[in-house]
Amino acid sequence: MKYASDVVERAINEFSKLPGIGRKTAQRHVFFLLKSTDDEIDELVRVLKDLKEKVRHCSLCFNLTEVDPCPLCSNPERDRSMICVVEEPNDVVAVEKTGEFKGLYHCLGGVLSPLDGVGPDDLHIKELLARLDEQTTEVIIATNPNTEGEATALYLARLIKPLGIKISRIARGLPVGADLEYADEITLSRAFEGRISL
Ligand code: ZN
Repeated sequence: MKYASDVVERAINEFSKLPGIGRKTAQRHVFFLLKSTDDEIDELVRVLKDLKEKVRHCSLCFNLTEVDPCPLCSNPERDRSMICVVEEPNDVVAVEKTGEFKGLYHCLGGVLSPLDGVGPDDLHIKELLARLDEQTTEVIIATNPNTEGEATALYLARLIKPLGIKISRIARGLPVGADLEYADEITLSRAFEGRISL
């Protein structure tokens, strides 16, 4: 069904492009917005513009940030001897919620996936190796517990182990195939405590 208003149609089309949003849900969002106040719409427009203009990747850890280096990298209270390697900025949020880890992070920007054409050069692996120095005593790999996540962990272990740095993998408690982002805090805390050396 098409609406008499071209603008309504265009809005529904735009919302339908968002992940997990079908046409039905997009219609509901558009009708909700039609009933919103001018202030609410202005704020929505502003935040969308700010997302594009102000948010970027930290040049050290590749987390999302508005200042470079990000607040985590520049926080003097963080333990600089440990680096937790994750796939995406969402995973930093998940690990931070556990309160279990006080070190620094490194976002790879994905995982090795030969079938999708993702190789080592497509991830922030070179930048990770460049960050490792005499301060670094342990690298904890917290990629998701699926085939690509495991393959990436083993690849990194082969690169980092010869440098004499302890390398471990979060383990126990996370079901295979699960996403770190959706793991509950207690499970993820246990996975950190029970990390195993690679
Ligand atoms: Zn950072």
